[in-house]
Amino acid sequence: MVQLAQTYPDKVTLVNGGPTYEGRPVNYLRVSTTNFQDLSKPVVFIMSLLHSREWIGQAATLYALDKLLINNTESDLINDIDWIIMPTANPDGYIFSHDSDRFWRKNRRFGSSCMGVDLNRNYDINWGTESSDSPCSETYHGTEPFSEPETVVHKKIFEEHQDRVLVFLDIHSFGSYVLYGYGNGELPPNGEALSSAAISIGDAIDAAKLPNNPNYTVGNLAQTLYPASGGSQDYALSVGVPYAYCLELPAFRGSTSITGFLVDPEFVEQAGYETWEGIKAGARFALNSNRMRKGIP
Ligand SMILES: [Zn+2]
Repeated sequence: MVQLAQTYPDKVTLVNGGPTYEGRPVNYLRVSTTNFQDLSKPVVFIMSLLHSREWIGQAATLYALDKLLINNTESDLINDIDWIIMPTANPDGYIFSHDSDRFWRKNRRFGSSCMGVDLNRNYDINWGTESSDSPCSETYHGTEPFSEPETVVHKKIFEEHQDRVLVFLDIHSFGSYVLYGYGNGELPPNGEALSSAAISIGDAIDAAKLPNNPNYTVGNLAQTLYPASGGSQDYALSVGVPYAYCLELPAFRGSTSITGFLVDPEFVEQAGYETWEGIKAGARFALNSNRMRKGIP
């Protein structure tokens, strides 16, 4: 990320969004041909590794950076859109998943009985209704909404670019899903458009995916996978982001157990490639519908 900011100073700014619980920077890149100064441009915000063990998601964000900056063949994407890309949304958990426990999911908030808060249950949207109040649970929601420094960093990004974030993608694994809110099964007022864009994302990935992997399933989080509260895509919807999704990338070699989080070296580049196809489809769908709504040809 530092190298990209140094190599493309006219397009890339490295931002330290603030410290994690353990004091690491939550870094992200702003990618823009107009240095984020053209407020008429929509913003696409992509993050990964909110759940630290879901390593394959990072391949997708890094691949997106490659296609936007190093090997860009579709200039509309960088000319028409400002991008915020955060490859590691939960740095403390990610380091811990490397050093100590490969299957660590939460952040590293100290607890006398158990460590960590599930950051994807900690956002201030229906908080605490479909999550756990037990610190030892994998879905522990924390002591209050936005109790965790990492989710506060994400919240500030939405606040800073209010009304400009058109698409939000939180990339997880695993299970091959495009999911949208709300996590209690209710749909937002733009549910139909939200669903249509999700289908375009899923179709684009399916057209590029490996034959052995299943097609993506597209749907509302609660109706398709399970109910969940306090999630990032729900929070994004609640603050006015029209197109907010959780992507679940494919499992490791079709596994249905915890080993699904492992990374197949042969799949790393492919994961980036096929997810990028989905990201592009979603961004263009949103861009076009936004233009139509504003009456721009
Ligand atoms: Zn996850």
